Amino acid sequence: MNIVFMTPEVVPFSKTGGLADVSGALPIEIAQEGHNVVVYSPLYKSVDTKRYNIVPVKRSIFVPISGRMESVDIYESLDYRPNPRIRFLFLSCEKYFKREFLYGEGNKDYPDNHERFGLFSRSVFEALKSLNFVPDIIHCNDWQTGIVPVYLKCIYFQDSFFSGTKSLITIHNMAYQGLFESYTMDVLMLPWSLFNYKELEYYGKINFLKAGIVFADAVTTVSKKYAEEIRTQEYGCGLEGVLEERKNVLYGILNGVDYSVWDPSVDSLLPQKYSIKDLSGKKECKKSLLKKMGLDYSDNTPVIGIISRLADQKGFDLLFELNERLVNTGAKFVILGTGDKKYHEHFIGLKNKSPDRIGLLLGFDNALAHLIEAGSDFFLMPSKYEPCGLNQMYSLRYGTFPIVRGVGGLDDTIIDLDLDKERGNGFKFYNYNPEELLKTIERALRFYREEKDIERYIKRIMELDFSWTVSAKKYTALYEKLLGKDDRISQLF
Ligand code: ADP
Repeated sequence: MNIVFMTPEVVPFSKTGGLADVSGALPIEIAQEGHNVVVYSPLYKSVDTKRYNIVPVKRSIFVPISGRMESVDIYESLDYRPNPRIRFLFLSCEKYFKREFLYGEGNKDYPDNHERFGLFSRSVFEALKSLNFVPDIIHCNDWQTGIVPVYLKCIYFQDSFFSGTKSLITIHNMAYQGLFESYTMDVLMLPWSLFNYKELEYYGKINFLKAGIVFADAVTTVSKKYAEEIRTQEYGCGLEGVLEERKNVLYGILNGVDYSVWDPSVDSLLPQKYSIKDLSGKKECKKSLLKKMGLDYSDNTPVIGIISRLADQKGFDLLFELNERLVNTGAKFVILGTGDKKYHEHFIGLKNKSPDRIGLLLGFDNALAHLIEAGSDFFLMPSKYEPCGLNQMYSLRYGTFPIVRGVGGLDDTIIDLDLDKERGNGFKFYNYNPEELLKTIERALRFYREEKDIERYIKRIMELDFSWTVSAKKYTALYEKLLGKDDRISQLF
């Protein structure tokens, strides 16, 4: 099959969150199955064109937007090609993408995001034609690509180049929908007849994610549990009805881990590598982590790590409610994150109260993220909701026990050790309240203090396999189904 993978961010070129990790790994896995894959993302200013030898392959394709033709260049990385069947292509339009950040600055989105990602979505059709890549599947990701299925069904259906093309959209987070003023219909140059509540409209505005859900041939999200949750009012963020209508083509496929990047036995970002055969490097990582975060090391003090976007989704209000009770548990906390200002202030307050117990870095630091996974004993994710969550799966490979709330992908991947000693791999609570969280942290710390052979458990969780292999097969089975071949889908889901 010829697969087009459309994404607003992709590792190693651009990243704000888990979607970038997924986009950097899943298409490679699909290519390894023998399919031809092209990954399209915008050429942001932050993309390191020198390092990856990213050069123009086609200049000035003209793309209709806002009643005029915009000139877009296609770039390609000549050096980064992990598999001969995959190409990483970039759509470049300086006016829209040569900015400091991907989506906005400070807490403010760029005001023309509708136009930026509208252009991105429309450009791909012109790019595919100009490079003569006839797609079987266009795989879209999140609201930034939600208009792609609309363009396919309502504009490019007339073009024989796309007559066999099917589209699919993966929802990585229901809370980000791309909601814009109605005049966006003119910017996108779509017929106003589509602006109705069954299609693109959402209470007087245009909703990019809804558009994708309605017009794509299939909809997926990133865990089985989240696929169920988003059809309820609590987690559907207002689109539960739309998803209910599309439930026959809605699938939950768990994200995987790229173990070439996230595995302590190959991780060159660590001061010392380690593996199941020799765990000594984990202790060195813990020492190095604490030093870096300005905390003293002691053998028996457990360290709880957090790496996160600082957003309401991630459940930090529970931590702030616990306040000093958190450090009274006897653990030390290392926290890496950036996001909402209010959380920055809260975390600074927490750190000021217990400077010897809390290490804090408010920013984005990939190397430190790796060190936290390796150097912590536990990893905390008390999320309000969590479509899949990657960090808990990374933690497992680094021998770091996740403490999670049982929602979405966290519920699908973590089994409580106190309930199941044989299969358990972490600690889990369900009710979203601070007392439950505290009890669960205390349970985890008791395990740390009392368990005689903790190494046995560390080794066991490091052996668990959350690689992309199985999930990539599910995606390709689904692509085949969309193209009329049903054979594998029933075996895999
Ligand atoms: P989400 O996509 O909701 O942000 P995930 O757990 O799926 O959450 O993925 C988060 C990814 O982003 C992980 O790779 C994590 O290590 C990384 N990450 C998040 N915040 C930071 C940060 N401040 N510095 C470095 N990496 C971060």
